[in-house]
Amino acid sequence: MSKTPITVAYGDGIGPEIMKSVLKIMDKADAQIDPEFIDIGKDAYLEGWSTGIPDKAWESLLRTKVFLKAPITTPQGGGYKSLNVTIRTSLGLYANIRPTISYSPFVKTNHPDMDLVVVRENEEDLYTGIEHQQTPEVVQSLKLITRPGSERIVRHAFEYAKKNGRKKVTCITKDNIMKLSDGLFHKVFNEVAEEYPEMETDHWIVDIGLARIADSPETFDVIVMPNLYGDIASDIASQISGSVGLGGSANIGDEGAMFEAIHGSAPDIAGKGIANPSGLLHGAIQMLIHIGQPETASKIHNAWFKTLEDGIYTGDIAKGGPAVGSDEFTDAVIERL
Ligand code: NAD
Repeated sequence: MSKTPITVAYGDGIGPEIMKSVLKIMDKADAQIDPEFIDIGKDAYLEGWSTGIPDKAWESLLRTKVFLKAPITTPQGGGYKSLNVTIRTSLGLYANIRPTISYSPFVKTNHPDMDLVVVRENEEDLYTGIEHQQTPEVVQSLKLITRPGSERIVRHAFEYAKKNGRKKVTCITKDNIMKLSDGLFHKVFNEVAEEYPEMETDHWIVDIGLARIADSPETFDVIVMPNLYGDIASDIASQISGSVGLGGSANIGDEGAMFEAIHGSAPDIAGKGIANPSGLLHGAIQMLIHIGQPETASKIHNAWFKTLEDGIYTGDIAKGGPAVGSDEFTDAVIERL
C-alpha cells in the first residue's frame, strides 16, 4: 500500500506532547501515512498572520486534503480570527462528528451505557464571526442559519445513523425563542426525517436537551445540532464519559477532512508531561478509517483499550488514583499493539 500524504500540525500548549504520542503510536502500528508538518497557531498569529495560518501551510492543506491537527491557542482580543473556524469554512468541512462512548468499568463514569454521537453543523450559526461594534457600548453578533447548510448537515446525520446501525436521530435547537433561525433548522430536520421513516426521531429545546445529556446520556443516539450547541454538547458528553481528554473529532467535507481532539490546548498542564493523548488518538483513528486503513485503526483502538483494561491511566482518568505520564501511557499502548 502506498503511503497517504497527510498534513500535521503540532499546535500549542499540550499540542506538541500529545501529537508526538499519537505519531509514535501510528508509526509503531505501521500506519501507511506520509506526514508533512506545518507551523500554524500562536507563533503564526504573533508573526502577523491574522488567521494563524501562513501561506505555506495552506499549500500543504489544499494539496493533501487530510489534516491531523493538535489543539491551537487562539489569542484573546481583536484582530485575530479563529484558526479552527477559518480552516473549517475554507475547506468546506461542514460536518463535525464527535462520538462519545463509555469505557466503563475501566474509565469511571456515572453513565456506563452511554454511546452517543454529536453531529454538529460546522460552518454557520454564531461561528461565522460576523460581529459589529454598534456603539462603544453595544456589539452585535450575527447568527446565520441557511436552508442548504441545514439540509446538508441533517441529511449527513441521518446517513451516518443509517450507515452505522443507529436507531434514533435527535434534533436540538432553541426554536421557542429563535423562531426564524433555529426554527428553520428544526423545520428542515422534520422534512428530511420523512425520507428516513425507519429512523426514530425526536426534538429537544437546547436547555433541557443539554440537561438530559448531562443526566441521562444513554437515552440519546445520534444528535444533530447547530454549531454552538454542538460544541457545548460534545464537551459535556466527553467530560461525563470520564474526561474531556478522551473525545476525538472528525471535520468532514466533500473535498477534505480534518481530525483533532475535541478539547483545547490546556495551557494549565502544558509542558508537565501529564496530558492524555487519547482524544487526539481517537481523532487519528477516525482519520485512518477515512483514508482506507480500518485494520490499522482497529489495531490501535484495541491496544488503547487494552491499556485501560490493564489499569494504566493518565491523571485525568485516574482521578486521584495511581497515574502515569503521557510518555508512559504512549509506550503502554505501543506494547499492546
Ligand atoms: P481546554 O479543553 O484546553 O481545557 C479544559 C480543561 O480540561 C483544563 O483543565 C485542561 O487541563 C483539561 N484538559 C484538556 N485536555 C486534556 C487532556 N488531553 N488531558 C488532560 N486534561 C485535559 O479548554 P480551555 O482551557 O477553555 O481552552 C484553552 C485554549 O484552547 C484556548 O486558547 C482555546 O481557544 C483553545 N481551544 C482550541 C481548540 C482546538 O484547537 N480545536 C478547541 C477548544 C479550545
